Amino acid sequence: MKNITILGATGSIGLNTLDVISRNSDRFNVFAVSAKSDWEGLLQICKDHLPSFAVLDDEASAEKLRVAAPSGVEILSGESSLNEIAAHSQTDFVMAAIVGGAGMSSTFAAAKAGKRIMLANKESLVLGGTLLIDIVKKSGAEIIPVDSEHSAIFQCLRGGKGGLSKIQLTASGGPFLNTPLEKLGSVTPAQACKHPNWQMGKKISVDSATMMNKGLEVIEASFLFGLKPGQIEVIVHPQSIIHSFVYFEDGGVLSQLGLPDMRSAISYALSYPERIRSGVKQLDLTKEPSLEFHNPDMSKFRCLELAYAALEEGNSAPGTLNAANEVAVEAFLSGHIAFLDIPTIVEKTLNEATRWNLDTLDSVVENDQLSRQIAQSFVGSGG
Ligand code: NAD
Ligand code: MG
Repeated sequence: MKNITILGATGSIGLNTLDVISRNSDRFNVFAVSAKSDWEGLLQICKDHLPSFAVLDDEASAEKLRVAAPSGVEILSGESSLNEIAAHSQTDFVMAAIVGGAGMSSTFAAAKAGKRIMLANKESLVLGGTLLIDIVKKSGAEIIPVDSEHSAIFQCLRGGKGGLSKIQLTASGGPFLNTPLEKLGSVTPAQACKHPNWQMGKKISVDSATMMNKGLEVIEASFLFGLKPGQIEVIVHPQSIIHSFVYFEDGGVLSQLGLPDMRSAISYALSYPERIRSGVKQLDLTKEPSLEFHNPDMSKFRCLELAYAALEEGNSAPGTLNAANEVAVEAFLSGHIAFLDIPTIVEKTLNEATRWNLDTLDSVVENDQLSRQIAQSFVGSGG
């Protein structure tokens, strides 16, 4: 029996993780759960799964949960408590499914404590990838990717990286794949969040619409698999059936297929190196539309181009890219800026921010905060 801590349990990945665990309750126990402020969502999870700990970001929400929670569940609050459940001696696996840089500290806590990290929070790697991978190697922790493309590559590389020439991350292209550039200026948050294939949280949905999500995934892949930027390509595949490709020197190509349902990647991270039931329907290719592939339009989706440039540059540039993107996406979702201001703010922030050598967690956090301040000043001035 493995004890699972789910950070971000009330979100899209968190709820899917709980669903997979429920189908395999003979193997996994929900040990600890967390959410930002949705105490009612967390209360329902506490009633259904009776974890030992539940953590909310703020104490006021935690107090409400404390009054209503079933007995036996200890309710805590704040980032230090989040780090505690991530590193707890009774925790075996940690699902890192908080959205954004807010998930970094707890991901690092799990890494230092040598846990299996089921990594959905790609932002942790983009912000402090070199440092995180270093800590994982030293502590004996393991990272099993949950992002569907990275899970696919991880599965394809079970035989090792020998003879690998390049990888291709598949991208759905998001809701605006066929929207002309001149119409993108006036799209609304509701349109941006309406993803054709995946049900996801708002932030990653906007990232999919700008294709920054794929840019962050290129950076994520470089750290996870130790690849150079030139070895990582993006290919648009609107049906989201093939989850990525690995090309080898002998001309062979491996890929992993399945219906677009995150429970496949989540269950693999839980059960690796074995496989378990996930609740995902079997793929029947005779019933699917034809599979299409084409190159991404970098001039329309400038975020993808900016992410490649930040990865080439390395050091603090990816962290600055991520921080500026989070500020810009938040401003777009709250109606303060237009959709096309997102890449503009990211680019301006990258131009203005000082570059640092990020060799400590403090320096990663400082770079994140300084970059956010710069991006915020551009939001204030209207992009
Ligand atoms: P979501 O918005 O649905 O859920 C986010 C979770 O994090 C919630 O439980 C929320 O309460 C918690 N949270 C948010 N801000 C927090 C804060 N400041 N402090 C503590 N907790 C906080 O997001 P999601 O779609 O589940 O995505 C989670 C992560 O997984 C993201 O990094 C995303 O990029 C990645 N991911 C998601 C999908 C998907 O299909 N949803 C696919 C691949 C990768
Ligand atoms: Mg993905």
